[in-house]
Amino acid sequence: MKITEHIERAKGKTLFSFEIIPPVKGQNIQKLYDNIDPLMEFKPPFIDVTTSREEHIYLKKESGLLEQKITRMRPGTVGICASLMHKYDIDPVPHVLCGGFSKEETEYVLVDCHYLGIKNIMALRGDARKDEAFFTPHPEGNKYANDLVSQVNDLNNGKYLHDLVESQHLFDFCIGVAGYPEKHMEAPSMDTDLRRLKQKVDAGADYVVTQMFFDNQKFFEFVDKAKSMGINVPIIPGIKPIAVQRHLNVLPQIFKIDLPDDLVKEVDKCKTNKQIKKVGIEWAIQQSRELIAAGVPLVHYYSMGKSDNIKAIAAKVF
Ligand code: FAD
Repeated sequence: MKITEHIERAKGKTLFSFEIIPPVKGQNIQKLYDNIDPLMEFKPPFIDVTTSREEHIYLKKESGLLEQKITRMRPGTVGICASLMHKYDIDPVPHVLCGGFSKEETEYVLVDCHYLGIKNIMALRGDARKDEAFFTPHPEGNKYANDLVSQVNDLNNGKYLHDLVESQHLFDFCIGVAGYPEKHMEAPSMDTDLRRLKQKVDAGADYVVTQMFFDNQKFFEFVDKAKSMGINVPIIPGIKPIAVQRHLNVLPQIFKIDLPDDLVKEVDKCKTNKQIKKVGIEWAIQQSRELIAAGVPLVHYYSMGKSDNIKAIAAKVF
């Protein structure tokens, strides 16, 4: 079922969902299931499966010199989606990226998803590769997420690349896109970023999932502003519980978000990571309760491959 249909069917009840990251290649998929299993009792209507950018690796040649190669360390997004449908009878949402893919390759991914019966696609630009200062699009790929949304929407209308086929059989993907309550790091202003978000919705996006945030006020202001600009699709808040001291530095650095001073002070008081995890869980519970009281359609959790803290939150909230 489409995410928008799940939301409609819930008739105002807030739903629970989460995101998983494919394992590093070489690992067993069982580890992924072990983290999903404890969350199934909260009846998520869907699970998002991320796609990672490709990265540089260095291989030692016989001569002793290093050879640089590009590889994807966490492949398998669509395969994992198929396995989730099979194992849990749940709607998976594969993340489809502009970065690293030609439009041709993207079309093949979408055809695979369609054949598998996947109903939802999260359309994202992707971040810059680790070795790049700025995002560089694939020479034959989509530059911005709104271009990717247009490609998916074209397929929904039977339009393949190169106008090669006249299809009577249309795709019908529900399309999600990313939104940023604290502005995307590259956007010159919040208003510009929201205009770009509106472009994605106008291109065919059906719902928005936000970047993680720790201050609900920022989310509420973002939603108000988005609505005033004519963005009328569901906006789903994304929540990540703090789990270790390092998060205080890396989350603002990677995602260009602020952490509220009250949260930082609570974490600073902790002596162990176990205590920090507890603070993170408590904070996320409060955030989730306030969001639910405000009537959000869903609360979406960034599990980052670990389910114990998400389970502790969901047990109190759902
Ligand atoms: P866009 O919407 O294309 O925006 C990127 C920047 O360009 C913004 O600053 C925007 O204001 C600007 N912009 C947009 N359109 C235009 C235009 N037409 N002209 C000029 N400027 C424009 N990353 C991954 O690699 N894998 C994942 O699985 C993944 N999942 C995510 C899930 C969620 C819910 C979120 C919020 C993010 C996720 N990301 C993921 C991170 C995301 O790829 C990055 O934040 C990326 O930098 C931007 O992606 P976007 O789709 O928002 O890009």
